[in-house]
Order: sequence, then structure tokens, then C-alpha cells
Amino acid sequence: LDPTDENFTPEELEVEKKLRPLSFDDFTGQAQILENLQIFVQAANGRNEALDHTLFHGPPGLGKTTLAHILASELNVGIKVTSGPVLDKPGDLAGLLTNLDERDVLFIDEIHRLSPIVEEYLYSAMEDYKIDIMIESGPNARTVQINLNPFTLVGATTRSGLLTAPMRARFGIQSRLQYYNTELLTTIVERSASILNVPISMEAAVEIAGRSRGTPRIANALLRRVRDFAQIKGDGTIDIKIARFALEALNVDAYGLDEMDNKILATIIDKFKGGPVGITTLATSVSESAETIEEVYEPFLIQQGFIMRTPRGREVTELAYKHLGKIKGNVQSG
Ligand code: ADP
Repeated sequence: LDPTDENFTPEELEVEKKLRPLSFDDFTGQAQILENLQIFVQAANGRNEALDHTLFHGPPGLGKTTLAHILASELNVGIKVTSGPVLDKPGDLAGLLTNLDERDVLFIDEIHRLSPIVEEYLYSAMEDYKIDIMIESGPNARTVQINLNPFTLVGATTRSGLLTAPMRARFGIQSRLQYYNTELLTTIVERSASILNVPISMEAAVEIAGRSRGTPRIANALLRRVRDFAQIKGDGTIDIKIARFALEALNVDAYGLDEMDNKILATIIDKFKGGPVGITTLATSVSESAETIEEVYEPFLIQQGFIMRTPRGREVTELAYKHLGKIKGNVQSG
């Protein structure tokens, strides 16, 4: 969770923290990834070595930060948290690295946004647990090499396409997080509701889960909003009636699609007769970068059956027409 994200108030950040799973057992979904990580952690613990550097990629809100914290906790070590855009100079990074205890986790969110100098500086730290630091200045300036404690770098990125090849190659463990299906999200909503001490019916949990765009963070956010409705408009219990009422009032899309998802679908239908349209042309039309569409929006739209990838570009499906209430063959003029 990005603390600088203006969509989150400090109170909401507090709640988010409470809802964050703390151990492998507590984490729902991503079964294959979890199974592997458990083995790697056990092996590293058994050898008393630092876990290999680990990269998590995938869309926002799927649990990358959560997994970084869980890794540290399962490794029984400390964690230091930073992010790509925050690390301005190699000096900032040196400060963090030299403060790591043996086997600690250094978590760098948005690792694709490291500056090239900082990134290069990180290479020797990752490879040999060594860094060069500059001491003194002027004519006496010289660099000394210092040894670091063995540590694990955990990187997270929503945009793996923007990660440089040398950076990527330095991660021994790489996992791509997938969107969650409604069943998993229902479990997550029920778990969160119980932590927040709010009674919820199974049906209501399914309703919230189905509108969460496959994303636990969104599911938790919707749950909190629906809880407000239940408290003010009802008796505090979230049943299907209050859930539907709240989600309608909040204007939440029936499939949980967000504004950009819907814009992409509407654009393909209205401007490109439903496709196929090339990704670059589409990107220009919706004023978003082609990479973001490919890595953040399209995977969900494809998974949910709104878009197909064809050799000639992207095409919308019947479901997209139905969802937007549009009729095939009606092309917008102008
Ligand atoms: P990312 O780093 O991928 O953007 P986070 O790890 O910050 O996502 O997850 C966002 C929120 O969603 C977390 O605070 C946590 O409460 C919830 N969450 C994520 N994954 C899970 C999961 N598998 N089970 C339960 N809650 C989850």
C-alpha cells in the first residue's frame, strides 16, 4: 500500500494495516507462489542463509507488499521498506544497506522507478554484498569498499516490462501475482469483516467480492464503505440488501471495472468498431501508455472475457457490448 496514495486517509491506512495477513497461513490465494516461497524460506532458514533476492510483479493491490512483510516474518528477520522514487542518490541506498542486520529483508516498492545510478549501485550489493562508498571530498576523496551483511532484496513492480534486464537477472526468485477469483475474494472479505467485527452474510460477501476487480485491496475498500452504509442505514449487519444498496449508491460497476477499464472497452467499440485495434493506437486514443494498458488493465479485461488478443490487435467480446449496453454495428460518428 502506497502511503502517499492520496486516496487513502491516515485512518484508512491504519485499517489496511490491521487487515494485512501476517503469515503464510493467513494469506489467501496465490497458492503456487506460496507453496514455492514456503520451500525457499524453509531451505534458507535451515541453512541459516539469506533468502535469494525475490521479485514480485503484478497489478496493484494483489499482495506484493504483504508478501514482502510475510517473508521477513517467516524468515524471522527485520524488514526495511523504501521505494524506487524515494531513493534519489546512491547515498540514500548506502544508508539503508549498511543498517541491515544479517539476513534482513530490504523491500523496494516500485523498483522499476529506481534511477539508473542507484540501480547500478545496487548491483554489487545484491551480487557480492559489497558497496563502494565515497569518503572525504576534494583532493582527499577516495572510495572504500565495505562489506554488507547478507540480505534479501525484495522488489515489487507493477510494470515488469520497465525493469532493466540486468536488474531482473539478479533476482533468483520471481513471481507474478494473479488476479483473485470471486471465491478467494469472498474468503478475504469474510476474514476482513471478522477482523473489523462486522457481521456479514455469505451472499453479501460474494456480492462485494464479485465487484472488486479481482483485487483484495479493492475488496477491503468496498467492505469498509459498505460497512458505513450498514451502520447508518441499517443495524450494522451487512446483508445482501444493504450490500447491493451501498454498491449501487457508490456507483460500483457490476463487474468491478474501473473508469479506465470502461474507457478502453468503450473506445474500442465506438472508435474502432469493436476492433481489432493495435495497442499503440488504442493507447493514444485513451491517453494512457501502451505498457500500462498491457500490464495493468488488459490482463483483467482478458481474464474476465471482455477483450480478446488477436494477431491483428485487441478485439472486444459480446460481453463488453452487453456490459456497456451498446449494440454491435452502431459506430459513433465523429
Ligand atoms: P500490492 O503491494 O500488491 O499493491 P498490498 O500487499 O499492499 O498490495 O495489498 C493491499 C491490501 O490487500 C493489503 O493491505 C491486504 O490487506 C490486502 N491483501 C492483499 N493480498 C491479500 C490476501 N492474499 N489475503 C488477504 N488480504 C490481502
